[in-house]
This record gives sequence, structure tokens and C-alpha cells, in this order.
Amino acid sequence: MKLTFIGTRGEIDARTRRHRMHTSLLVSYRAANVIIDAGLDWLGKLKRLNPNAIVLTHAHPDHAWGLKRGAPCPVYATEKTWRELGHYPIKDRHVIKERTPTKISGITFEAFPVEHSVLSPTVGYRVGAGRACIFYVPDLIFIHERSAALKAVQIYIGDGATVTQSFIRKRGKALIGHSPVRTQLTWCQKEGVPRVIITHCGSEIVTGDERKISEFIVAMGNERGVEIQLAYDRMKLTL
Ligand SMILES: [Zn+2]
Ligand SMILES: [Zn+2]
Repeated sequence: MKLTFIGTRGEIDARTRRHRMHTSLLVSYRAANVIIDAGLDWLGKLKRLNPNAIVLTHAHPDHAWGLKRGAPCPVYATEKTWRELGHYPIKDRHVIKERTPTKISGITFEAFPVEHSVLSPTVGYRVGAGRACIFYVPDLIFIHERSAALKAVQIYIGDGATVTQSFIRKRGKALIGHSPVRTQLTWCQKEGVPRVIITHCGSEIVTGDERKISEFIVAMGNERGVEIQLAYDRMKLTL
């Protein structure tokens, strides 16, 4: 399995050379190329990537609005996400059921509901191909079934909206927002995930001193026995 972090910018105004495009991951396996999420930055730029499919985590602007004029390939999303994007001119649409492994171009995607937004219900994906297995969740407060989601996962790819501060608010009984990198590292320590990559970078990372922040999160990882790094646009890796 090959991963290309084609975008690593969160829902912020700032953009830099390292974090120019809205958070999106290209997953390649054999001849297949599947993209997870297509935010507004990707509007009009998806065709040239020639994807076999696009899979969505939720309907927020930085994850789905790149499809507002349609898509060059089949699009997969949960029923709840399609309820929001129903008016988009996407012809080839597929419902992906939560907790049901679904093969898309030879790559298996399993959607796990996560807490993040009341209006835009969100999932993370357990993605498997060959012997490789990752969990991708760019926006979240927590994973409802964390142990099942992270079991035997090689790399957790998580939410960089905030490094140590809590971005969590109450909306009625529900919680909305983002959990800090620190908390996500602790989950990975508990579930035995050896490696973390942080994407969906917030202004702390994008406008801050990235080398210092990187040293800081590596130290947090060392305390928990978890390897961690920050993703940047066009970063590639092979599993
Ligand atoms: Zn986002
Ligand atoms: Zn979001």
C-alpha cells in the first residue's frame, strides 16, 4: 500500500508550501488509486489525479466541497453524509455502511463513527490492502469503538487541528470539535499502535515553528512509546 498525503491543511485561513491543500489522502494499491476526502481546495483539480474512487469522512467544507460541481469517478460516503450532499451533481454515488468492510478497487474500507460534529456526522476509516492496515481520521473528538478501530493497525493518521489544547465544545448533549494530538497519542499507546502521522494541520502547526512543534510532539510520543511525525503536502510512504 502506498500513501500520498496530497493535502494536509485543516479548516484554517493560513496556508504554506508544506500545507497548501485541504486534507486529503491518496491510497494506492496495485493499479488502484482511491482518494479520501476532497475539500474546497480540490474543486476543479480532482480529474488530473485520475482517481478510481473518492471516499468521504464527512460533509464539512474542507473535506467534501471540492465535489460541489460533481466528481470524475464513483464517490462513497455514509448515508448521513449523502443526506447533506444530496444536491451535488454526482452521478456515480455509493453508500458505505458503518462497520461494514467494503472493497473499493481492491482496497478495503471500514467506516467507524467518530464524535466531531452534530450537523455533519463523521467517520474514520480502517483501510486495508495486502498486509497493510491503517486508520485514517482527520477530524475527531473520539472514536466510539476505539479498540475495534485500532486493532493491529500499523499507522494511525490523525487530527492536527490542535496539539495540546482542547478544541471541544458542548452542543446540547453532544460534543463538537477536535481532540488534541496529545490525547490521540495516548489512545495509540493504549491500543498498541506503534506509529502516528498527524495531518489536518491547524494554525498552531501551519503558522508556528514546525521544527519546534515537531520536537515537542516527538517527545510526547517518546513518553508513550509511539513514533510520531507531522505530514506535509505530497509526503509519500510505502507500507
Ligand atoms: Zn476538517
Ligand atoms: Zn470537520
